[in-house]
This record gives sequence, C-alpha cells and structure tokens, in this order.
Amino acid sequence: MSSIAEKLQVVNKNIANASVAAGRDPAQVRLLAVSKTFDADAVLAAVTAGQRAFGENYLQEALDKIAALRVMAPEAMLEWHFIGPIQSNKTRPIAENFDWVHTIDRERIAQRLSEQRPAGMAPLNVCIQVNISAEASKSGVVPAEAAALAHVVSGLPGLRLRGLMAIPAPADAATEQRAAFRQVRLLQEQLQQQGLALDTLSMGMSGDMPQAIAEGATMVRIGSAIFGQRPPIHS
Ligand SMILES: *Cc1c(COP(=O)(O)O)cnc(C)c1O
Repeated sequence: MSSIAEKLQVVNKNIANASVAAGRDPAQVRLLAVSKTFDADAVLAAVTAGQRAFGENYLQEALDKIAALRVMAPEAMLEWHFIGPIQSNKTRPIAENFDWVHTIDRERIAQRLSEQRPAGMAPLNVCIQVNISAEASKSGVVPAEAAALAHVVSGLPGLRLRGLMAIPAPADAATEQRAAFRQVRLLQEQLQQQGLALDTLSMGMSGDMPQAIAEGATMVRIGSAIFGQRPPIHS
C-alpha cells in the first residue's frame, strides 16, 4: 500500500499528463481532494504533502474536520469545498464555514447562502450543479434551466458564481464520458456568451478524470485515488 503522499503525487502527475495530452496547461487544472468519510489524520497527511483544497459531502462530518484541522495545521491556509446535497435548513453553517459550494441547484438555497454569508468574509464561491444525465440522479438543475438560475445567482451579493459542476452517470466507454463532459462545457460557453464571467468547470472524479480534462475541466474532484476505497455505505 502506498501512502497518501505517494498517491497524491501520482494523481498530480496524472492530472499533468492528461492536461498535456489535451494540449492544455496543467496549471489550469486544480485538484480538489475529496476527503469525505476519511478522518482528520488523513487530511493532515495530504496537507503535509502540499494539498490545500478539500471537498466534503456530509455537513457534520465536515464541520468536525474543519475544526480539527484548525488545531492540527493552524498555519495551513486550507480551502474547504462543500460538494454534497444541501438541505435548506443547513445553509447557515455552510455559509459560515466553507470557501466554495459546488452543488447549487435551486434559487432558494442560493438566496439563503447569500444572506447567511458573514459580512466580514469574501463572497462564497459557487458552482451550479447541472444534471446532465437526467435519469441517473435527482441532484442538479436540468440544462434548460441552468441559464435562468445562473443569472439569479450571479446577482446575489454574498455569492460569486464561478461556473458549473456535474457528476455524469457512470459510463464505461471513454467516448460516452467525454460526450457528457462536453455538454457541460458547451453549456458553460453559452453562459459566458450571455455575459457571465465564469472560470470554473468542476468535473471529473477518480474514474473519469482524463476525459473531464480533455473536455475542459478546471477542477477535478478526486477521492478514492488519493485516500483509498471508501466503505460502500456512509451513515
Ligand atoms: C465522492 C465524490 C467525489 C470523489 O469520488 P472518487 O470516485 O472517490 O474520486 C467527487 N465528487 C463528488 C460530488 C463526490 O461525492
């Protein structure tokens, strides 16, 4: 078994290779280390190896880890990204403790996050989650409704709309994976043509990262390739 530091190094190398293969500058693709279900010691191992941005899905687990890391690595400027489904009664701790939210899929959640973002903090960076493979998931706005939501979100003072996020349905063939990621990129380009200044495409996970980078991902969300297999069910 290789260590978290070694696996992180391999993932960073794979991101660089996929970027170069796609004719892109590797510096345009950021790694978000998805640490859900792994403990604060695992996050600390990644921090020690140089990683700064972490993605979490489960709010209470995330809040505990954020607090633990403030004590364990007080000097490290960590960036916390919320990437799980959001319940509307849980927006306040998200607005108060995270730097990014990738899973905006309705106006009400965006409005609450904006109102609840503390005045002394920079606006919360957000992505709109797009449901590209409608049958596979209930999360995300359908592509036809993405533009309307994006324009509302871009006007909220406590938020800064950065781009789109997607989790396409699992597909075995690389061409299928790419087709789904391409739809997200084309949607992002439409929004940019409508005047929205978007710089982030959050797409690609451990199983489909090179395909996402080939289609323009600027942030890949990688969990198991860094931290190992997760238990199948999280409670
Ligand atoms: C768990 C998760 C990931 C990471 O998945 P891996 O397959 O472990 O890389 C990425 N994005 C989201 C939204 C997740 O929930």
